[in-house]
Amino acid sequence: MSKKFVYMFSEGNGSMRELLGGKGANLAEMTRLGMPVPQGFTVTTEACTQYYADGKKISDEIQAEIYKNMAELEKISGKKFGDKENPLLVSVRSGARASMPGMMDTILNLGLNDEVVESFAKKTNNPRFAYDSYRRFIQMYSDVVMEVGKGYFEKLIDEMKEKKGVKLDTELDADDLKELARLFKEEFKAKKGFDFPSDPKEQLMGAIMAVFRSWDNPRAIYYRRMNDIPSSWGTAVNVQMMVFGNTGDTSGTGVAFTRNPATGEKKLFGEFLMNAQGEDVVAGVRTPQTIDQLKEIMPEAYEQFVDICGKLEKHYRDMQDMEFTIEDKKLYMLQTRNGKRTATAALQIACDLVDEGMISEQEAVLMVDPKQLDALLHPQFDAAALKAAKPIGTALPASPGAACGRVVFTAEEAVEMAEKGEKVVLVRLETSPEDIHGMDVSEGILTVRGGMTSHAAVVARGMGTCCVSGCGEIKMNEEEGYFELAGRTIKRGDYISLDGTTGNIYGEAIPTVPASITGNFGRLMAWADKYRDLGVRTNADTPRDAKKAAEFGAEGIGLCRTEHMFFDADRIPAMREMIVSETVEQREKALAKLLPMQRGDFEALYEAMEGKAVTIRFLDPPLHEFLPTAEEDIVALAKEMNMTVEALKAVIASLHEFNPMMGHRGCRLAVTYPEIAAMQTRAVIEAAVNVQKKHPEWNIEPEIMIPLVGEIKELAYVKGVVVETADKVLAEAGITMKYHVGTMIEIPRAALTADEIATEAEFFSFGTNDLTQMTFGFSRDDAGKFLGAYYDKKIYEQDPFARLDQKGVGKLVDMAAQLGRKTRPDIHLGVCGEVGGDPSSVEFFHKVGLTYVSCSPYRVPIARLAAAQAAIKNPRK
Ligand code: ADP
Ligand code: MG
Ligand code: MG
Repeated sequence: MSKKFVYMFSEGNGSMRELLGGKGANLAEMTRLGMPVPQGFTVTTEACTQYYADGKKISDEIQAEIYKNMAELEKISGKKFGDKENPLLVSVRSGARASMPGMMDTILNLGLNDEVVESFAKKTNNPRFAYDSYRRFIQMYSDVVMEVGKGYFEKLIDEMKEKKGVKLDTELDADDLKELARLFKEEFKAKKGFDFPSDPKEQLMGAIMAVFRSWDNPRAIYYRRMNDIPSSWGTAVNVQMMVFGNTGDTSGTGVAFTRNPATGEKKLFGEFLMNAQGEDVVAGVRTPQTIDQLKEIMPEAYEQFVDICGKLEKHYRDMQDMEFTIEDKKLYMLQTRNGKRTATAALQIACDLVDEGMISEQEAVLMVDPKQLDALLHPQFDAAALKAAKPIGTALPASPGAACGRVVFTAEEAVEMAEKGEKVVLVRLETSPEDIHGMDVSEGILTVRGGMTSHAAVVARGMGTCCVSGCGEIKMNEEEGYFELAGRTIKRGDYISLDGTTGNIYGEAIPTVPASITGNFGRLMAWADKYRDLGVRTNADTPRDAKKAAEFGAEGIGLCRTEHMFFDADRIPAMREMIVSETVEQREKALAKLLPMQRGDFEALYEAMEGKAVTIRFLDPPLHEFLPTAEEDIVALAKEMNMTVEALKAVIASLHEFNPMMGHRGCRLAVTYPEIAAMQTRAVIEAAVNVQKKHPEWNIEPEIMIPLVGEIKELAYVKGVVVETADKVLAEAGITMKYHVGTMIEIPRAALTADEIATEAEFFSFGTNDLTQMTFGFSRDDAGKFLGAYYDKKIYEQDPFARLDQKGVGKLVDMAAQLGRKTRPDIHLGVCGEVGGDPSSVEFFHKVGLTYVSCSPYRVPIARLAAAQAAIKNPRK
């Protein structure tokens, strides 16, 4: 039997989201639950994949199946598609597996043309409504399907309003709207060179194809990359009978959440607009009313809606985000999905649902997106400074958090400034999907128009970015680079602060304070710790980072890079001396200067970690990174070294490397200059001994990590130096102390020979940054220049440095882990690359059975939660 590409809503159910997309599956599920859903059918995600496979064409078979289901829909509705007497109008809506808000565009009122609209006006006895629907359809279809661009039409509407001397679109009458429809079509013809398609069948196929096409628009691709969605999934298309919220004052349209998406409060939260259609609420064309007001206006519809909300939440056991329309007092449900929410709300809802007995602790752990926690880990306003500051305005608290930065007016400016390391606040009339890049890099977003469910609000909440929306008092003057508020003029580049929790706007910079893990956050993290198998350590080079990470729950340091310790102004001279030394004696003299500094660093780290594990990696980067380049520094160093400037320059030149990433670095330094490894060993062991003496209750066991090993004999050689020195130091101190010597696995050859390497190494730590770079054969510092082209051409979908390449690099990790365990069953296996804090990579590391991941301090809670989710989803035997 051939594949089924189209399903009536009554044929599907909520579990079919892979095939029907999220929207389609939930429309089917609501239908199944007997809720008032305008009926329709879903063209599957497989049809989308097929469309691309067929060279961007909808095959004849699929077209036939679509028409067959359209005939079925005609039967159900008692109307006819394209008919003049009793026309069936439909919406064409995209719906991928994962919700992608605002990414793909919906077309409403499809099936209208000049003739149909006339009889539609007569039949409904509501010409204003009929022509409003028609002009909306032309507008949307031109924009979405024909890519004419919205701007022209909006200009025509504005001109019409001006001509009529009215402010609101609802004040335009039937004739105005009819005229607008005519002007729109004229505009269309001028732009495209042919007439607006009047055949409903052509309109339908055009719209379905446009949805398939939109799967591949740049915004969708960007959203997918940000959210880990593969391009192979495709989108489904829903064709649904129209219901009309724009027939007059007994109709309207709205959106609602079963709980507050900003705070998590258990209270119905929503907005609606009378006499409106589709996106009007979200687009902020008029200021919406709250859902509570609906109770007064249409009590029956309100009661029914509240009842449905309760049922849906119980059914999905999660907070729901719903769309509804009321047509002549009759309620219709148009969408439900698990609602997007802020991190604060996510924690509140997860904890509440556990307390309400609706979900288990494990389900609560699975419910919170680890990446969202980031928003809670970042600074809040300093309470005293906030109290002292006086707001210059207040608007809707659309997405919580504290933002402080310089004003920019466009997404491009935001990106430009952010690249220079400036913190920015994006101020816009309203945002649209084109702004997503700029929103992503901004500390906060302030809009003049739009409600709590406006584009800015929804997207900011998704990103965990602070947003204050709908500040109508702002007078924008973008062209001249300023805005006015409360008598103040605030220019591009000036500092402002936003409080996304209160909606307050401040015309000044307000200092911020770091976050802490308490309350609901603490509760959820405790559950996460209960269910995870992977340990979570941190990458920290300084006591400050180490302390922060310990506060965030790090169980130890998985990577301390020692090279950063040598860059301080008071240290680099000794380091340089060491590097340009020509004899062992000279080098040892310089190293003797470094020893006490290094020992001090390690003591501070051991103190900060209070007896927890600390893995110290020996010197790794190419030496020339430390050398002076400025003439005066070279002269000074030559003097210090008793060398001529020429001789020093010759030494510096001799250290030049063509490919330093693969040059004289890592353990190769210790092989050529064993004195360096000896000094570092002495510093580590002496520091551990000193701190252990001070804190007898701790049990310090130093972990020394040799980087960039590719051959067992080089590890054996360096380990020999380490062991000899360590034993000597311990004998001098008259103390026994266990210490461990291990290695990074970051060269493919080390992974391939991990069974051999494990005969010497007591632990492995996968250095996924270098391992990725060496496995792909491109340098991390240069890849940025060409990876863009690889994303565009879909050769790679993800940055392999940010998310583990499971197929290639992951295979090496898995293999090395197995080989290592074969030689040494109790071997400790860690990860210390960038990807140690990336949720999908963490899941992989859980699956291949590693001992711990190590990541930057701010990612520690993210890794803890991700590890718990991985363990709940994939229990280890
Ligand atoms: P998005 O995914 O961007 O929310 P939707 O497909 O949900 O896009 O639709 C956009 C708007 O159009 C929503 O407000 C929705 O409720 C409305 N809408 C979609 N289909 C219909 C329909 N058949 N009748 C009335 N309104 C509809
Ligand atoms: Mg929707
Ligand atoms: Mg490395």
